[in-house]
Amino acid sequence: MEKYKKLLKENGLKITPKRFAIISYFLKNNKYFTPYEIWKFMKKKFKKIGLPTIYRNLEQFEKIGILTRVEGEENRFYYGICKKTNKKHHHHIICTSCHKISDFEICNFGQLKKQVEEITEFDIKEHHLFLKGICQNCKKGV
Ligand SMILES: [Zn+2]
Ligand SMILES: [Zn+2]
Ligand SMILES: [Zn+2]
Repeated sequence: MEKYKKLLKENGLKITPKRFAIISYFLKNNKYFTPYEIWKFMKKKFKKIGLPTIYRNLEQFEKIGILTRVEGEENRFYYGICKKTNKKHHHHIICTSCHKISDFEICNFGQLKKQVEEITEFDIKEHHLFLKGICQNCKKGV
């Protein structure tokens, strides 16, 4: 939690009870959620909180690297907590069964990058890799 508080502060965001509650919820569950699901949870604690507030907070959190956005089916999107706040290059992997989110630092995009640059004649500046799969626990459960 401390590192997330630090991130908020560094980015000029106050550590409010609401922000604290959202981040704690992600940390505790280690899963990805829709803004709507976060809103449903938050409404239990903060009766008057509106869905737009949730959207705004989640977007801010994504911008400063606390959350990562997950593209789901039917144009739905979700958010998951990013554990690597040290900005080390990494990618995320999600379990489509239990919605667990993990990350890994292995990346061999370098080779592919060269090939893509040759074909497209682009200079590639960044890449995002997102993996979906079935986690160890869910595999056992099947
Ligand atoms: Zn991450
Ligand atoms: Zn799973
Ligand atoms: Zn990479």
